[in-house]
Amino acid sequence: MATTDKHQTFSPDFDKAVPSHLWWNGQIVPWESATVHLSSTFWSGVTAIFEGIMSYWNEDDGELYIWQLDAHLRRLLRSQKLMRQASPYSVAELTEAVCELARTLEVRGDSYIFPYCYPQGGGNFESSTGPGPQPVDISITVRPNPSHLGKGWVRTACVSSYTRISDNVMPPRVKNIANYRNSNLAMAEAKFDGYDTALILNAAGKVAEGPGACLMLLRDGVLVTPSGTESILESISRSAAIELARRELGLEVVERPVDRTELYIADEIFMVGTAAEILTIGSVDHYTIGDGAMGPVTRELEQLFHDVVRGKRSEYAHWSTPAGIRAVARG
Ligand code: PMP
Repeated sequence: MATTDKHQTFSPDFDKAVPSHLWWNGQIVPWESATVHLSSTFWSGVTAIFEGIMSYWNEDDGELYIWQLDAHLRRLLRSQKLMRQASPYSVAELTEAVCELARTLEVRGDSYIFPYCYPQGGGNFESSTGPGPQPVDISITVRPNPSHLGKGWVRTACVSSYTRISDNVMPPRVKNIANYRNSNLAMAEAKFDGYDTALILNAAGKVAEGPGACLMLLRDGVLVTPSGTESILESISRSAAIELARRELGLEVVERPVDRTELYIADEIFMVGTAAEILTIGSVDHYTIGDGAMGPVTRELEQLFHDVVRGKRSEYAHWSTPAGIRAVARG
């Protein structure tokens, strides 16, 4: 039974919630004033890049903790380099921009932060291939997106008939908007066929990742995940999950090529990603995984994530950036 409607990764109201302000090229501006001419959108998606960052509200602390902000912004700059974009702002400047925007909006709930770097004036095919880094405009938005950690969501999946983009086609290791056409085709196909999501194989026929999240499998007590050269995004949550599984759960974690049929016989499978968080895969191509519900290791890791991302585990404080809401509230 497909569970798409009630198990959307993003809140169903995500696009409807319109914040009062956003950050645009160095300034916080009213939402309605951030407009561009239609013609400048024509080619912008080809080289545009973005980040997706979750921030978590901690009611006890009265603070918003931005999860892995530094790692996300460093990846943003890596994406810019690979896409031959100029990087007009440093990680420190973008960190302050994100925090200042959250404070201006007085964010008091889990939110999704979306930095977006697109060619100035939209560019065209010729200009986007010019020598040297291409000039960009940058915006940052923050919108409400409640976490689903702890809700026990389970998704059905199929192996997609689409092949994952690869390094010599469109490098999946960075967050180029154009890469998401591949994810989008796989996801749409899965939904048409009655599944919640897709698992995508790479050009070598090995398991790569989901449309917007990485994959982990439990096999005989060992956590297995496709390695960074298997046509996956250089995922930040995946790295965190590996570290937490090793350090907190004492698990052996192996990064290696994964066969399609290993999915069918895995004891547990879950997706891991910023918006996906930890998401149980209950079946793949109608093969039930474990007993079809969230497995014990996935549950433990999910609980850990829940505490760590909300800033409840001081030993992982370096993974969270407080936006400074508490200080503003105190005056
Ligand atoms: N793969 C793809 C294609 C993604 O879009 C995402 C989400 N950003 C991930 C993996 C997970 O990456 P991260 O943990 O950095 O969010």
